[in-house]
Amino acid sequence: MSTFKAPRGTYDLIPPASATYLAVREAIAAPLKRSGYGYIETPGFENVELFARGVGESTDIVTKEMYTLTTKGGDELALRPEGTASVLRAALEANLHKAGSLPVKLWYSGSYYRYERPQKGRYRHFSQVGAEAIGAEDPALDAELIVLAHDAYRSLGLRNFRILLNSLGDATCRPVYRAALQEFLRALDLDEDTRRRVEINPLRVLDDKREAVRAQLADAPLLRDYLCEECKAYHAEVRELITARGVDFEDDARLVRGLDYYTRTTFEFVHDGLGSQSAVGGGGRYDGLSEMIGGPALPSVGWALGVDRTVLALEAEGVELNLPAAVSVFAVPLGEEARKVLFGLVGELRTAGVATDFAYGGKGLKAAMKAANRSGARYAIVAGERDLAEDVVQLKDMDSGEQSPVPLTEVVEAVRARLA
Ligand code: ATP
Ligand code: MG
Repeated sequence: MSTFKAPRGTYDLIPPASATYLAVREAIAAPLKRSGYGYIETPGFENVELFARGVGESTDIVTKEMYTLTTKGGDELALRPEGTASVLRAALEANLHKAGSLPVKLWYSGSYYRYERPQKGRYRHFSQVGAEAIGAEDPALDAELIVLAHDAYRSLGLRNFRILLNSLGDATCRPVYRAALQEFLRALDLDEDTRRRVEINPLRVLDDKREAVRAQLADAPLLRDYLCEECKAYHAEVRELITARGVDFEDDARLVRGLDYYTRTTFEFVHDGLGSQSAVGGGGRYDGLSEMIGGPALPSVGWALGVDRTVLALEAEGVELNLPAAVSVFAVPLGEEARKVLFGLVGELRTAGVATDFAYGGKGLKAAMKAANRSGARYAIVAGERDLAEDVVQLKDMDSGEQSPVPLTEVVEAVRARLA
């Protein structure tokens, strides 16, 4: 062990477990790639003001969870706590919304940072795959995103997740509701912090997880009862389209989610095997965000799925992903001459698309075969001086133990044929 440990609230992804994380990222991205979403990558840090405005001054993320720093040049930066504000910032900066037709559909994958109390499913460094569809107000787009997240989870073999769905209204109906909620909340017995929140962003109080607060919210007015006709119709169509795709969801009139910028459609994916950190992903429509960060009106919708919690969900359900072994072939040279010949052969196999590894470090036969076994390879290629004198190698099937000589010039084809 070294003198150092991974910082509190973080962990390393190490083989073989890391292969599962990679597969989860790929599985979440796959439906997006099939649906016209282009890959975007933004910096790991941004101007702190982008998140203050884009995520919201009254959110936990901005008030408590951000890693902020002042650079030597005096810039105020923050490690990114989420992806949406950055992606929209980048899209606006590149004028993507002017360059082609709308919506601009983007997906991303990366590391995010939040200074939270570490516990199972809650880390200070975690990873998300996300999708944003920028610049269109169309219930079919909201439905598409929900269905794609559902497809991703299903493709991983997850069964015990639920989709919670709600509408947060728009600039017409939300203010009326907000006032009604505020009036209700002002009459409650709340601590000073929460009272302040009632004045800045009362909807967020509905998201409070503390029992003392929750107990008082039973009779709180619900946005559902305040939605304007447009929002009602919009929400009805989202529900109808998802239902038509055979995707189940639950209406959750109290779902508000932690970010300030959501309007209309909001949803969360929860997994019941995860204990208190049950949200594996979430998202919604954010029609006002672009204007909040200085852009034009660009109604948009998106989601972010947590990779760490998705992996925990797989564990909770006992799902083993069917991951291919890292390599198919393992080469074992016996002696100096064989080392050179097989090193060349390994290169040829790799060029031909066969994942191949080599017994490095001058191991003897026994240790080398152990390494071959551990690699998970289906075939070992063994060659010593006597084989080389006859221009053959021994091709060994690692499962059956059967071994047969194959002419050097035919090895690549023979291996490919057997693996096909
Ligand atoms: P929570 O209610 O659990 O705090 P959140 O509302 O803060 O979640 P989002 O901002 O919606 O989460 O992020 C989307 C997803 O990212 C979450 O559903 C979760 O899977 C993951 N996520 C968020 N914060 C963390 C964290 N600290 N550690 C691990 N995963 C996280
Ligand atoms: Mg959170």
